[in-house]
Amino acid sequence: MNPILTFQPLGPPLVLNGDAGFRPRYRDPSTLHPRDVCPHCRRETLRHRFITPDGIWLETHHCSEHGDVVPMRSVIVRED
Ligand SMILES: [Zn+2]
Repeated sequence: MNPILTFQPLGPPLVLNGDAGFRPRYRDPSTLHPRDVCPHCRRETLRHRFITPDGIWLETHHCSEHGDVVPMRSVIVRED
């Protein structure tokens, strides 16, 4: 029996990934792009950067629903 033609259960598409073999496409690190999101609702935050008179850069993140938040890096992003 040809191992390439073996039965594959239903699920996400599989990709050949070098020596790692076949893995689901959504687990391939090259397809994951983490962004800064709100830790409460996973919406992407709006970043504000400004410089103080002392020359120190500050950065804040704002969620449209939860206000100022400390963002988390996530590949799961709510689009609404
Ligand atoms: Zn939020």
